Amino acid sequence: MFAATSFKNKSVAVFGLARSGISCALALAAGGAKVFAWDDSEPSVEKAKSEGVPIINLHTIDFKTLDSLVLSPGVPLTHPEPHWTVVKAKQAGIEIIGDTEAFAREVSGSGAKIVAITGTNGKSTTTALIGHVLKFAGLDVDVGGNIGLAVFNLRPPTQDRIYVLELSSFQIDLMPGLKPDVGILTNLTPDHLDRHGTMENYAAVKARMFSYAGDGTALVSVDDEWCAAIADVTPQVSRVSVVKEVLHGICAPEGILKDKHHGQCVAEIDLRQMPSLKGRHNWQNACMAYGAARALGVSVDVIAAAMHSFPGLAHRMQQVAVVNGVPFVNDSKATNADAAEKALVSFDHIYWIAGGISKSGGIEPLAAYFPKIKRAYLIGAAAENFAQTLQGKVDYVMCETLERAVKAAAQDAQAGSVVLLSPACASFDQYKNFEVRGDAFVELVSHLPHAQMSQGGNG
Ligand code: ADP
Repeated sequence: MFAATSFKNKSVAVFGLARSGISCALALAAGGAKVFAWDDSEPSVEKAKSEGVPIINLHTIDFKTLDSLVLSPGVPLTHPEPHWTVVKAKQAGIEIIGDTEAFAREVSGSGAKIVAITGTNGKSTTTALIGHVLKFAGLDVDVGGNIGLAVFNLRPPTQDRIYVLELSSFQIDLMPGLKPDVGILTNLTPDHLDRHGTMENYAAVKARMFSYAGDGTALVSVDDEWCAAIADVTPQVSRVSVVKEVLHGICAPEGILKDKHHGQCVAEIDLRQMPSLKGRHNWQNACMAYGAARALGVSVDVIAAAMHSFPGLAHRMQQVAVVNGVPFVNDSKATNADAAEKALVSFDHIYWIAGGISKSGGIEPLAAYFPKIKRAYLIGAAAENFAQTLQGKVDYVMCETLERAVKAAAQDAQAGSVVLLSPACASFDQYKNFEVRGDAFVELVSHLPHAQMSQGGNG
């Protein structure tokens, strides 16, 4: 944690004392602000108190005596209805910001740069990939925000430091001064409408990231109508597409990334060669990472080499080992059929481990991919149900446990195929969460004879 000096001598209320709230309150206090921190949950208050956060019941404070309210991004700003602290702050006319805004103010003027990544899907992968590429290039990089460390737990700003920040729409909503050096919007599909009201509001929040004037780089997908509309009004935008060619920007419709300047292709990278960037959705993430790294001066060759060594984000189509020439892929994050589809579409000759607690509809929506499956290894509560869907279409084995499934798949798989854990199910029948399930898979694979484990992982 480092001191937030731009709030020196200011009176700041902090509401929401989870991970980011606690570190922000401590940072503000260390920087000389008068901090009043509170939470509706008593255990959170107790925990914050034990960590040295100055606690006061905000119900008892006149908000007119405050300069700012720092709100946790998990607390409703507008929908379904504004939180009581928001109502009080608005009545008192004080600013409402998030820890990420306080952080951005510390960074401003330090010479450090911010790469901000948002979108409905692919935020974490794109953030981790950019962090990996920049570190590979020898730059001084910290990765955090909505992924990994809260911003005030990163190292303090220095002139050469680059912060790669994953930002949720809730965080952007609380960042009126966001002016990233590189801003990235991966895609927009209906999500979190309970908290943003309408799709228009949700898109408007995301668009705010690009409303700055200046010489920052803006990378915006044009593959969905909401992003395309934002690209149209963003000055000096680099358009990104993985379904069609673009004239000016970055595209990879066939898996070959092309950097296009006014119709001219100035660089190419074959993304199909990257072990942990399989699938069109990952090509989109790779195009964004390429654009960010180029904007920060990394050469095309270094970017290509870095992408090749990207270990993947843990549990998301992550190649964890090669055993007798067969890649073993951990896609434990695929807790429903929609997510498993992304993996099935990305591979051929699949030895597929699936099962757990199924969502309604099971794996019926995946029928189009059944011809790619050499054999399925069914585990957990959904096994019977999945077996019925596969009956007569895909060869399957009832394995009950992941341990048996891994052993059986390892025995069957031939070179040129892949062993894929993409369960299309939640894990709760056998594991605490998808991370624990994925870790168990990696552990089991590591005990297979001749397993060559991949390096790293950005969990
Ligand atoms: P987020 O951080 O936005 O939730 P992740 O990078 O953690 O996204 O990816 C979560 C899941 O979303 C992946 O397992 C994959 O199924 C899917 N995904 C990843 N990148 C994209 C993308 N660019 N477009 C659509 N879906 C994606």
